[in-house]
Formats: sequence, structure tokens, C-alpha cells
Amino acid sequence: MIMARMIPMEFLAGFHRFFILSSPLFHGSFTRGWYHRIMPNDPATAVEAIDGILAYASEARASDVHCDPTENGLQIRLRIDGQISEAASMPGRLHEEMIARLKILSGARTDLHSVPQDGRWLASIGGSRFNIRASFMPTYHGENAVLRLLPAGTRRDESFAALGFAPDHAAAIERSMKKTSGLILVTGPTGSGKTTTLHSCLALKSREPLSIITLEDPVEYELPGIRQVHIRHAHGVTFAAGLRAALRQDPDVIMVGEIRDAETAQVAVQTALTGHLVLSSLHTNSALEAIPRLVDMGVDRYLLASTVRLIIAQRLVRCLCHACSSEGCAACRFTGYSGRSVIAEACEIDAGMRQAISRDGPVSGAMGLAAESGFRDMAEDGREKVDWGVTTRAEILRVLSA
Ligand SMILES: [Zn+2]
Repeated sequence: MIMARMIPMEFLAGFHRFFILSSPLFHGSFTRGWYHRIMPNDPATAVEAIDGILAYASEARASDVHCDPTENGLQIRLRIDGQISEAASMPGRLHEEMIARLKILSGARTDLHSVPQDGRWLASIGGSRFNIRASFMPTYHGENAVLRLLPAGTRRDESFAALGFAPDHAAAIERSMKKTSGLILVTGPTGSGKTTTLHSCLALKSREPLSIITLEDPVEYELPGIRQVHIRHAHGVTFAAGLRAALRQDPDVIMVGEIRDAETAQVAVQTALTGHLVLSSLHTNSALEAIPRLVDMGVDRYLLASTVRLIIAQRLVRCLCHACSSEGCAACRFTGYSGRSVIAEACEIDAGMRQAISRDGPVSGAMGLAAESGFRDMAEDGREKVDWGVTTRAEILRVLSA
């Protein structure tokens, strides 16, 4: 999470030259125009254009910057709190120069135009450091670039409460993280914050004298004191192969970025069974769907019953803006929302659940048991967060019906 901060004057000077703004660009004085009607006013060079866009993205707490060629130029869009919005359009004459500049910065090849490429660089934007990951693709109107901005060097608050977990869910995660073996799963679609939750789990574990290895595709954030391995699926390295290699590195705790195939599922469960704590993520809609998904991947029910400790399912919802509570103000760029929180469900596998899992039968049995032990599903967690004033009913509906 990037803290809101002012854009330094040196950026502002260049910035005003190509964005017509109806008010100064300091927070507290943004207008609707800042968000909806930013007009390009002829940046002189690609360097100037890119510096301005990055300063703008950093100030708006954007996670991604899309530079997409259109018939008339380069459309710049930002993803902020999970939502894409239009930010600016750049004149066509700067298109190739801007893509070339981004390629040079990220170490991609400037002489290749018809193949996808990627790269990264460490940028200093308005006094903050970012790891920027760039992806280039040949599109219909020419090459595009998508940049992911990852804050570097600033430690985020890693507590589960800071991520938005309710006290009972945070306590369930902390209890499970005390175990020395077994499988802990975080489920949800892409962009639901699973990796961030897994990283918070690892941060908690890294306070103990343990050997911790992660297998990630890609490694986005540096975790101090943890061996992080970048798994390159593109180069034919699978999570399963990475996991087998990691086992020869004397680990206590292993995080496998994602279980997406039968082989990884089976190796992960075997690893969890042999005295390792394994953390991973899975693409399912709910916590309880994780069990049948793993069974479908060929994992034995009795192995699952004896290894799975906790299954979390989560989504990210936008938080109501503190400054205006949904009215819309400059601080939230007139969206009414600022920042994001998880809504979650956490299913701890107890003796009764273990029996239900090892028996052949529908998940509904396990679900009934979970309900008895006070399981709150994501919709219920969402309703409570509406009651607490964290978010809105509309936002919960939007996220849960997606
Ligand atoms: Zn506001």
C-alpha cells in the first residue's frame, strides 16, 4: 500500500506542460477534472511523458499502468484499487519513442517488435522506490506496454488485521501458522490478494528460527530472510519440479505460489505429510471447494484429511473513503472509495472435518460441520464489514457476483 504523498515540484513543472488541469495537483485539491478529463497537451519528449505518467500513477496509488496504442495515439489507463480508469492519451508521434524508452529502462530489446517481451527496473518516483515490471506485446495498432508498480524498500504493515481480516479469521490463521507440518491454502480468483496473505503468513513465520523457501511466479516482493525462487513456467520449470528441488534445500516451511496441476498438488501434499509446513494458493470460489478440487487433481482423500490445516477464501473489496464516506471527494478521486480490504472465510480442519473429508461423499456434509463450528462465509463477513462502515453493500455484491 502506497501512502498518499505530494508530487515534488520538479515533476509538477513537467507535468503541467502536458496535462491540462483545472486545479493544482496537490492532494486535497483534485477536482473531477483530474480524474475524468485529463487532456494531453503535447509532451515534448518520451522521457517527459513517461516521467509524468509514472509520477501521476504513483500519486494515484495505481498498481498498473497500461499504455495501449490506438488509431490516434497511445491511451494511458491506470488500475487503482483493482479498477481500470482512463488517465490520459499521448500523441501518436510519441508512441514508438515511448515504447523504446520503456524497453531501455526495463532491459528489453528495442530491435524486436513482433514478439512479447518483459523486463523490469528499479525506479525512483517522487522520492519513493518502485520495482517496475514491464510487459510488451505486439497489438493491432503496434506495440503496447503494461507496467506493474511494486513499492520497494517500504515495509507494509504485515498484520492480518491490516489486510482487513476479522479478528476471528486472523486468530484462525495465526493458530494454523503455529503448526510445523501440514497444508495451508488460500483460495480465490486472480487479483484477490492471495499472495499478499501468504506473504503475511511467511512474515509471521520468519520471526522463528526456521528455513523458509518460496517458489513464486514471479517473485514480486522481497521478503527479508527468506529464500525466494522465481519459477519460470515459460522456461519449462513447473512448481512441482521446483518443489522437488526445494526439498533438497533443507526447508521447514515452503510456499508454493499456486497449485494449478495434479503433479504439484500431489507433491505439495506429500511434502506437507513429511514434516513440512506448506503454504499455497488455489483457484476456487470458496474455501470448501478446495477439497473436491484437490480430489479431482488425484490427491487421496485420506491424505488431504491428514494434511490440510486451514483453508482461507478471500476477495478484495474497496474501502469507503475516510475523508468523505462515499460522497466522493478529492482524496478518493470522486469514487467514494480509497484502499482495499479483504472479505474472507476461514475453514479450520478439525477432527470432525477430517472424518468428513476422508469419507467419500459430497462437500455439503463438511459444510454442515463447518457451519456448526461457527464458520462465517464470505458473504457474512462482507455484511459485517458493511455494518462496521468499512465498505458498501453494493461493493460486496459487485465482488461476490463477479
Ligand atoms: Zn472521498
